Amino acid sequence: MTAEFAGQITLDGPSGTGKSSVARDVARALGAAYLDTGAMYRAATVAVLDAGVSLDDKVAVARAVSEADIRVGTSAHREKVTVDGVDVRERIRGAEVTRAVSPVSAVPAVRRLLVARQRDLVAAAAAVVVEGRDIGTVVLPGATLKVYLTASPEVRAQRRAAQLEVTDAHKIAALADDLRRRDEYDSRRADSPLRPAEDAVIVDSTDMDKRAVVERILDLARGAVPAGEQS
Ligand code: C5P
Repeated sequence: MTAEFAGQITLDGPSGTGKSSVARDVARALGAAYLDTGAMYRAATVAVLDAGVSLDDKVAVARAVSEADIRVGTSAHREKVTVDGVDVRERIRGAEVTRAVSPVSAVPAVRRLLVARQRDLVAAAAAVVVEGRDIGTVVLPGATLKVYLTASPEVRAQRRAAQLEVTDAHKIAALADDLRRRDEYDSRRADSPLRPAEDAVIVDSTDMDKRAVVERILDLARGAVPAGEQS
């Protein structure tokens, strides 16, 4: 059954909380569009890596991103991520892109470009779930409902390991290190750091399964007043 919902739901939080899968399920249940802004930053990183520029050269990084044709779909049922017409859905999840994505996304000119595209994509949808790091704080400060999804570092590392089907203890420890490094980088950057919006509902999913998290957000959405109808 499709619930009645019009407006924007933002879902921010650190890596490994299961945000993407929760966001997609919420969007499907509401018949809403879905935008994975992390996929946009990852696709931008593909463009930077392919341009062969140094990650320290912010001007060259921003130029590589602005010159690439980056497209990310908004269907909750079918993922679409292309760079210059090439399907990069698999590549953006690989280690090379994951290592480089935080420095690329810390470049202010890259963020300006992608945030403008995010707002255009959101404006085209009557109902949309948008996931990322700065959606409630920067991209859509007037969103109908803001959720900040978190979980303990141990649980996040385990979830990421399960998602990647990794069982070796050393590899799980390496994944935990990688999550910690990326979250520190994302939280400490000067432009749009990872943090909850003041009016976000914090959902700590450490002891919740995915279904419970999705239900909690759907409950919040049912109680939320669409933007523009607040008195
Ligand atoms: O969500 P995901 O892990 O795919 O995001 C990859 C990276 O993209 C994050 O670690 C962060 O550096 C960047 N990102 C961002 N702002 C967003 C979404 C993602 O800076 N709104």
